Amino acid sequence: MEKPAIAGGKPVRETKIFYGHQSLDEADYQAVLDVLKSDYLTCGPKIAELEQKLCRITGAKYAVAISNGTAALHVACMAAGIGEGDEVITTPITFAASANCALYCGAKPVFADINEKTYNIDPESVRAHITDRTKAVVAVDYTGQSTQLDELLEICHENGLTLITDGAHSIGTKYKGKPTGSIADMTTFSFHPVKTVTAGEGGAIMTNDPQLYEKLVLYRAHGITRNPALMSKEPDGPWYYEQVDLGYNYRMTDIQAGLLISQLDKLEAFRARRKEIVNRYDQAFSRLPQIVVQEEIPESDTTRHLYILRINPEKLTINRREFFDALGAENICCNVHYIPVYYFPYYQKLGYEKGLCPKAEKLYDEIISLPLYSAMSDQDVEDVIAAVEKIATYYAK
Ligand SMILES: *Cc1c(COP(=O)(O)O)cnc(C)c1O
Repeated sequence: MEKPAIAGGKPVRETKIFYGHQSLDEADYQAVLDVLKSDYLTCGPKIAELEQKLCRITGAKYAVAISNGTAALHVACMAAGIGEGDEVITTPITFAASANCALYCGAKPVFADINEKTYNIDPESVRAHITDRTKAVVAVDYTGQSTQLDELLEICHENGLTLITDGAHSIGTKYKGKPTGSIADMTTFSFHPVKTVTAGEGGAIMTNDPQLYEKLVLYRAHGITRNPALMSKEPDGPWYYEQVDLGYNYRMTDIQAGLLISQLDKLEAFRARRKEIVNRYDQAFSRLPQIVVQEEIPESDTTRHLYILRINPEKLTINRREFFDALGAENICCNVHYIPVYYFPYYQKLGYEKGLCPKAEKLYDEIISLPLYSAMSDQDVEDVIAAVEKIATYYAK
C-alpha cells in the first residue's frame, strides 16, 4: 500500500494547490483599466450596468450593488425592519456574517439545526424555533446548494417572517429551474475573491419587492435620498437632498463594478467547470467507504462554491485533524467551513452554549473543504483525488 507523505511516503505533488483562488483574465484587467481612465471611480454608470446585469442573470426585479456580502446582509436585515428584541433564525454552519447581521440590528440570532445529508438549514428545525419575536430567517445556500426554498417560504409566509437567502456561495445556482436570487424576499451575494465571481470586495442584494428595494437603496447610502417623493418638503434647488433615516456608506466603487461585470461574462464557464470538478470528486469519493458525499435536493441545480470532504469516523483510524494534516503533507491545502458560529468566544459570552445544534456540531467535527475553483487543471483535480484515496485507504479501519 502506498504510504501517505505524512507517514514518510512521497507527496502526490511537489507544488502546493490552494483551496480556492480567483480566476482573472485580460478582459478583467482591461475592464478595471477602462474604469480608472473614465470620469467616475464611484457612483458612476458601472453600478447601474452591474445592477441590470445581476437582474438579467438572476431574474430578480431589483438589484442593489453594495460594498460586500456582510453589508448586504446588514441592510437586508434593516430593510426587513429587524430591530431591538427581535429574533432572526439562521444556521450555525456558515460564515459569522449570516448571524452578525442580526446583532448589528440589536436582534438575537437563533440557531436552527441542519439536515444531516444536505448540510443546509432544516425547515422543520426553523419551524421549531419560531417564537412571537421571530422576524426573519437568514437561510444560507451552504456550498452553493439551494435551501429548501418552497418549504422555507411557506413557513415564513405563514408566520409573517421575511425570508433572506444568504447566497454568498450560490450565484449561478437554480432552484426548480429558476436562479436563486429571484425567489426569497431578499437574496444577498458576496463577491469576495474566494467566491465564484469576484469584485475584489463586493456584494449585492436582490429583491422583487419595490418597497424593500427603496429601503435597501436608502440604507446603502447614509439614509440620504434625492427622491422628492421621500422628502419632507419641496427641494430648495437641484443640489438638494435629505437624510431621512440613518444609513451607512456601503457603496461599491465603479472599479469593483467594472471588474464584476467582466467576471459575470464568465459565470457560465465557471459554473460548468466547477460542476465538472464536483462530479469528478463525487464519482471518486462515492467509491470510498471512509468518505461521505454531500447529498443534494433534486430541486437544486448547484453551482458549487465549496467541496466538502466529510470523513466517516467509523471507517477511519484517524480523525479530521489528522486527515487535514495528511492532505497538507501531500501539498493539498485545505480549509474547514465552518466552525459553528455559536462556538466563537463572542457568542459564548452572549450566552450560547455548545449542544444547541447536534447535527451541525457533528458535521463540523468531520469536514474538510477541498480545493475547488475554475482555474484548477485536470491534473490538480486528479492529484487531490489521489491524495484523498491514498490517505483514506492507508488509514482505513
Ligand atoms: C463570504 C460570505 C459572507 C460575507 O461576504 P463578504 O463579502 O466577505 O462580506 C457571508 N456569508 C457567507 C455564507 C459567506 O461565505
